[in-house]
Amino acid sequence: MCVFCEIIKGNIPSAKVYEDDDVLAILDISQTTKGHTLVMPKKHYETFLDMPEDEYASLMKTVQKLAGQITRNLKANGCNILINTKEAAGQTVMHTHVHIIPRYDSNDTIEIGFKENKFDLSEVLNEIKG
Ligand code: 5GP
Ligand code: ZN
Repeated sequence: MCVFCEIIKGNIPSAKVYEDDDVLAILDISQTTKGHTLVMPKKHYETFLDMPEDEYASLMKTVQKLAGQITRNLKANGCNILINTKEAAGQTVMHTHVHIIPRYDSNDTIEIGFKENKFDLSEVLNEIKG
């Protein structure tokens, strides 16, 4: 069984931020920044792309609520909301989860940067639209 299913079942201890019938939010063990939280559906879905639309929508409602609460109460200046989807994107636990990463200042312990690339936008659009 996957590690998050074990946590959801209570077989592995966790610091619970929030829980209801469908969703569990826990502090990430790495605490990349103070308050780094993982929000996950209790049902095992490998990636968020596998979730039914209504379950995903309801998960994200909880993410929005918790992101506000965490940012306010920890006096963060902002937060990153991140879903790593599949190994190529850095997903290491194959039970989908949303990272809430509070941000404090430019020197906090996470760096997310977008480097520029040159692609022909109309070709990219054609590929996306199929
Ligand atoms: P991913 O790279 O899959 O998006 O993120 C997985 C996250 O799960 C990592 O940030 C890692 O620190 C966290 N994690 C892995 N195992 C455990 C665990 O047993 N407990 C908690 N609380 N977090 C975990
Ligand atoms: Zn699982």
